[in-house]
Amino acid sequence: MRPPELAPLFASAQSLAGIGPRLAILMKKALRLPPGVVEPRVVDVLWHLPTGVIDRRAEPAIADATPGTIVTLKVRVLKHKAPPRGNNKAPYKVAVEDDTGKLDLVFFHAERKFIERQLPMGDERYVSGRLEKYGDNLQMAHPDYIVPPEARGDLPLLEPVYPLTAGLSGKVLIKAARQAVDRIPELAEWQDPQWRHQRGWPSFRDSLHLLHVPTDAADLSPGSKAWQRLAYDELLAGQLALALVRQQAKAQKGRAVRGDGRIRKKIIAALPFALTGSQVSALKEIADDMAAPNRMLRLLQGDVGSGKTVVALMAMAIAVEAGAQAALMAPTEVLARQHLETIAPLAEAAGLRIAVLTGREKGKARDAILGELRAGAIDILIGTHALFQEDVVFSDLAFAVIDEQHRFGVHQRLALQAKGKDGGANVLVMTATPIPRTLLMTHYGDLDVSRLTEKPAGRKPVVTKAVPIDAIDKLIERIRAQLAEGAQVYWVCPLIESSEKSELAAAEERHAHLVQRLGENVGLLHGAMSGPAKDATMAAFAANELKVLVATTVIEVGVNVPNANIMVIEHAERFGLAQLHQLRGRVGRGVRESFCMLLYKAPLGETAEARIKMMEDTEDGFLIAEKDLELRGGGEVLGARQSGLPEFRVADVPGFEVLLAAARDDAQLVLETDPELSGSRGRALRALLYLFECDEAVRLFRAA
Ligand code: ADP
Ligand code: MG
Repeated sequence: MRPPELAPLFASAQSLAGIGPRLAILMKKALRLPPGVVEPRVVDVLWHLPTGVIDRRAEPAIADATPGTIVTLKVRVLKHKAPPRGNNKAPYKVAVEDDTGKLDLVFFHAERKFIERQLPMGDERYVSGRLEKYGDNLQMAHPDYIVPPEARGDLPLLEPVYPLTAGLSGKVLIKAARQAVDRIPELAEWQDPQWRHQRGWPSFRDSLHLLHVPTDAADLSPGSKAWQRLAYDELLAGQLALALVRQQAKAQKGRAVRGDGRIRKKIIAALPFALTGSQVSALKEIADDMAAPNRMLRLLQGDVGSGKTVVALMAMAIAVEAGAQAALMAPTEVLARQHLETIAPLAEAAGLRIAVLTGREKGKARDAILGELRAGAIDILIGTHALFQEDVVFSDLAFAVIDEQHRFGVHQRLALQAKGKDGGANVLVMTATPIPRTLLMTHYGDLDVSRLTEKPAGRKPVVTKAVPIDAIDKLIERIRAQLAEGAQVYWVCPLIESSEKSELAAAEERHAHLVQRLGENVGLLHGAMSGPAKDATMAAFAANELKVLVATTVIEVGVNVPNANIMVIEHAERFGLAQLHQLRGRVGRGVRESFCMLLYKAPLGETAEARIKMMEDTEDGFLIAEKDLELRGGGEVLGARQSGLPEFRVADVPGFEVLLAAARDDAQLVLETDPELSGSRGRALRALLYLFECDEAVRLFRAA
């Protein structure tokens, strides 16, 4: 159970005065909610940190006020100057003065009654807003605040500025955040007292207070003590959660799985190529790890096209040689089917019994698979999330491979692992994202890594070029010429903010356009299509019946069509570098010269330009990932938002790496001295884990 004192923070944001269902919907858009959270809560308001402040502290006399700055003025209302009747365009002006000068408050499309009520003739008011010069006169258009002298205290002198969404005003967020801050209970300090003292950090509650109700503009810099403290809190929670999960994994006995090599030999004989050196050494690392009595958790990292699937198959064969079963899980239906196709002929040659289980297998067919699985009549089960379902029971699962891990959460990995005998299958996680070391540490802790650094022989470099969208006609003409020579083209359509529907609409529109320009051999693939329709389209493209495949980002990972040699990516500036790299990896797999055309909408910002240039300059996935980290900061590199990986809410700060290393050491030390988190700091740390919603870890100590 979550500690009861935290309950007010996890209440719906609608429990805050001024937030109703309509604003809650807007907040859902503006706030970054963790995966699975459908309604904004008070805690989400707290993590929605301001990006700056408006300083209203300057309170000059009118004669001393500087035009172009934000000021707060104490004025008397002198005169109302309504626009002439029938002229809606002219503004409503109110002349005000103090002892040193005059200015006009200016209102466009104003409601007369409202202004008269706000600014009665002869009364005194504080007005705050941007002072401007209009000809020889001073004016303030639409003051941000107009308050009578007795309400002077309502004027936020340092007003936090929040990232907004249309319809959600700063004032609403300020009010909500202030209430949210007031709800933070007094919590026992979870930081090591000496470390906190040395850093001069405020308490958790004071830190959030300083960020939402700043007393100094410097409070809001990510380098400020308050921000750094919260960043450290978040990193510590993450590291502690990972350390707990690992502690638990280590405590459980694993299973030594050893094969005699007979099935692997048959697979190798059936392969039309020799394994690369990298593949061979990764396989050896995996085999050694499986043979050890601890529970294996290893990451296989290899750039797109580096040949991870074969490694996975060979590793799964080890489990089967040992008389047990293996599972391979892919993030999408398309990928699961593709794995099946790649693996099927090799499996047949090696006498492996394989089956596929996705959301599409239903009723009798599904029952039949589940029955065979339970009876041990299936050696390798390939599938999607459907493998997690409770009624999927193996006779003896010894080894599970998870492809493209970052699309799955830690708890899903644990769920699959738990299907092994005595709850402990060995796990191999595969990813094409070249995750820099620091990030590996934040998201996975210290897990073992095998890398495929060599590309299979015969890979061609991909020529990458950035092209402004205005030049699209020319590009289409060049593609027409290429098609005549047998080329095949992927055309990836733009990612459109948040709305699945509009992404689809854009793809459909481009598809129609290309059909018109290039003929009927243009196919369309998107997430809303039915499974069989997707398969049919993919198959037609793979069989070279379709020459051009317009797709939303569903093709991002894994798809393998060696003859395809041109990749067009629209609105490339909206993709992360890692994603662009993944997409580009779809081409350059066959004999043809390959191209990647990055369409962008000019003008590009500085960062976007640097990113696109990086893509033109190199195909080295690690370099790209490191550059991405440098350009965008930790949380975004993995495309976290799209992948479901937990994103940092506050930890994207300068000094991130130092804080992270400290948090990791801190977490290890804590667990060495207090593995159950039952001491006084330990109990305080439990609250921290709840606050940052490290649920897997929370579940572990709850079970203990
Ligand atoms: P990824 O690592 O991106 O998952 P795949 O496993 O899909 O890559 O492999 C990409 C392509 O490379 C496949 O067609 C596969 O058959 C081929 N391949 C794998 N290993 C080798 C190798 N050693 N030599 C030549 N081709 C290989
Ligand atoms: Mg793959």
